[in-house]
Amino acid sequence: MKIAAMKETYEGEKRVPLIPATVDKLVKLGAEVEVESGLGVTCRFEDEDYLNAGAKINSDRQALLKSADIVLRLRKPPIDEIELMKNGCIHVSYLDPFNENELVEKLKTNGINAISLEMIPRSTIAQKMDVLSSQANLGGYVAVIQACEQLDKIFPMMTTPSGTIKPARVFIIGVGVAGLQAIATARRMGARVEAFDTRPVVEEQVKSLGAKFVKIDLGETGQTKDGYAKQLTPEQLHKQKEGMAKACAQADVVITTAQVFGRKAPRIVDHAIIAQMQPGSVIVDMAVETGGNVEGSELDKVTEVEGVKIIGLANLPGRVASAASQMYSANLGNFIDHFWDKDNKEFDLKLDDDIIMGALITHDGEIFSETYKNIINK
Ligand code: NAD
Repeated sequence: MKIAAMKETYEGEKRVPLIPATVDKLVKLGAEVEVESGLGVTCRFEDEDYLNAGAKINSDRQALLKSADIVLRLRKPPIDEIELMKNGCIHVSYLDPFNENELVEKLKTNGINAISLEMIPRSTIAQKMDVLSSQANLGGYVAVIQACEQLDKIFPMMTTPSGTIKPARVFIIGVGVAGLQAIATARRMGARVEAFDTRPVVEEQVKSLGAKFVKIDLGETGQTKDGYAKQLTPEQLHKQKEGMAKACAQADVVITTAQVFGRKAPRIVDHAIIAQMQPGSVIVDMAVETGGNVEGSELDKVTEVEGVKIIGLANLPGRVASAASQMYSANLGNFIDHFWDKDNKEFDLKLDDDIIMGALITHDGEIFSETYKNIINK
């Protein structure tokens, strides 16, 4: 079974889907691995490194796509490459299916088995292949580093003969994977950290990282069976803004990570909140790519509103591309390994498996994912 890994075409993307260590793992499983020439250059992996790990190198992108049984990528495929792939090919990548109806339609009509990595269930067994977690974790780290760079104060307390500097105050809104890593990173750097999430279950996790949970009574909020936040009502959102205003006003840094699965990110920090913040403070809007949590944040820019700097940089994990590629590639390797039939040396697309039921969007010329059908038909 031939597994192909494609070079990323998205401008500015430095992460790579497959690194030599994972090639080695796949070859040991009995797979034939062929990578596009130059696959790893942005992370300083040469073709020779892939060759040494057991892969073949192919500089003819179209020929590689046509011959592969499994295609591995980072971002969603360019639409004009879909028809090059074999009918029945398994395509594994981020897919952003809810915003890519045309792409999904094309994958369907071309008989591609399209796995959307974002849709892998957040179960214990699937943790090892969960790219949302591996990348969000690094994103949370980078968000803190970016904030440090823009802030003209320091994070730790310093007592010196020249005087004492108080620790910076950091407020994290949204405590999923990215938020937890942001808390941990800010704490490691010595900041005083507060956090809030609409899911009250995270209070214990916040406390265990040495941060304070800001309590706001929003009434019933709950979470979905997969642990995702539910969308708030307009009244709840209003209450949340009121409750958060004080924590924002006291903060030197606010980091927002709030997402609601399958929807636009909630707008939780508005102009009125920003106007109450101290000039010179910094906001990092980690949700800028999905609509933004912060009024005034702009994609790939650092803007200034009422003297507050708002960082709206996209693709934060891509700023630590080497670490991010290592994790993404390991996630892909674990995904293949999990479904590898070791006797027949082939990928077993188990249609009744929970992970495949969650992540397989198109199969055999049809839409396979029930979640996709439900959300699209709403
Ligand atoms: P996410 O990226 O979907 O959202 C980030 C955070 O924003 C969430 O904690 C969410 O509750 C919060 N949020 C949404 N609306 C908000 C608002 N108005 N104000 C403040 N916060 C708001 O989250 P994620 O990091 O992908 O995690 C989603 C869930 O999956 C969590 O329950 C997490 O614990 C769980 N998870 C489980 C596993 C596993 O068991 N394998 C792995 C990773 C994550």
